[in-house]
Amino acid sequence: MDLDLTPEQRAYADTVEKFATQELNDAVTAHDRDGTFAAEAWRACGQFGLLKLPIPVAHGGSGADAVSTMAALEALGYGCRDNGLVFSLGAHLWAVTMPLARFGTDAQRDRYLPGLCDGTLIAAHAATEPDAGSDPAAMTTRATRHGEDYLLTGTKTFVTNAPVAGLLLVFATTDPARGFAGLCAFLLDRDTPGVTLGPSTAKTGLRTSPMAEVFLDDVRVPAAAMLGQPGAGMAIFTAIMRQERSFILAPATGTMRRHLDQCVDHARRRHQGGHPIGAYQAVAHRIVDMRLRLDTARLLLYHLGWLLDHDRATDLDAALVKLHLSETFVQSGLDTVQLHGAAGYTTDLGVERDLRDALGSRAYSGTSDIQKNIAARLLGLGR
Ligand SMILES: Cc1cc2nc3c(=O)[nH]c(=O)nc-3n(C[C@H](O)[C@H](O)[C@H](O)COP(=O)(O)OP(=O)(O)OC[C@H]3O[C@@H](n4cnc5c(N)ncnc54)[C@H](O)[C@@H]3O)c2cc1C
Repeated sequence: MDLDLTPEQRAYADTVEKFATQELNDAVTAHDRDGTFAAEAWRACGQFGLLKLPIPVAHGGSGADAVSTMAALEALGYGCRDNGLVFSLGAHLWAVTMPLARFGTDAQRDRYLPGLCDGTLIAAHAATEPDAGSDPAAMTTRATRHGEDYLLTGTKTFVTNAPVAGLLLVFATTDPARGFAGLCAFLLDRDTPGVTLGPSTAKTGLRTSPMAEVFLDDVRVPAAAMLGQPGAGMAIFTAIMRQERSFILAPATGTMRRHLDQCVDHARRRHQGGHPIGAYQAVAHRIVDMRLRLDTARLLLYHLGWLLDHDRATDLDAALVKLHLSETFVQSGLDTVQLHGAAGYTTDLGVERDLRDALGSRAYSGTSDIQKNIAARLLGLGR
């Protein structure tokens, strides 16, 4: 197994890192403070081609394989300090654009993919409900057939990108008694009558990634807006989760690599007691542990990329990557704050923001507990 990047993959990743460093870091501290979505930076990502990177060429994308995409996302995470923007991009790409490219009809692809790929149309994935989080089978949003249409009624919560989205991928059930098996997915234009949003959800971190509740009140959608065949909602939901878990934290490897560089630099420059703080074993060992966790995170990630590119990836691999990357991301944020002393605790340096941003990764796309449940089940354990 060769996990080395090709010269082309490396060159593209370098271009992404340069673009992200130069174009995506305007006013990040202020945007975090005010909860502002960086619309201009989003447009720049679209123009650069990041929003279409893994979309098949036949559907207007660049057709990048998994490893190339991961390398580009790692570079994005290294260069871009706006983790909220990067997370919004991941939600748009993995939870809506890719599933639409894979499961959509020609008419659905023609209608939505050009805008999703160039960034002029933003997408949101609406699955979670007030009483259905870790247990998606408990969704109660109803899809009731009315002639050629469906009527959607229910409430979706924690919907990333909802305040800026033009397209919602909404999960609903045609029969709550059938649980997961009754699920359907619908492509819903945000301006459809009956769709309303709650106020922006205030969050601990990822504050530049907008989020809101979505209320659906007898929203009429044509049957042709269903993604996939009737009854395929469960399979589509599972496929989305597997893909999202595989890629959503790829940028975090870049952020963690930046943390490591920043910590090594600080430990060499900052002197206390007549020595650089890196001369103290407690500090040096913390940095060595950071490096070890980063290396294991990158190995797991790129190994999964290789498996995906060879059609050998399983749900277990995706769950382990999601679990390990989110936990190491949080620890990397904690270590970086700690290593910078009081400066790390101030908002000026930005590392406390990375820590707040990292915390969300233990919840979205399935909590760490749920990843362990999935892994245990696939190992033949648990319920
Ligand atoms: C930043 C962010 C962005 C998000 N974006 C979206 C989005 O775009 N679209 C969307 O639909 N949703 C989104 N979500 C919601 C996310 O998918 C849910 O938060 C997640 O599925 C957990 O559901 P919950 O928050 O209701 O927690 P709960 O399910 O209520 O869990 C609470 C606690 O109980 C534990 N727990 C629950 N069940 C079990 C179990 N069976 N075994 C062990 N422990 C268990 C959990 O691990 C957790 O610690 C987002 C969440 C966050 C934080």
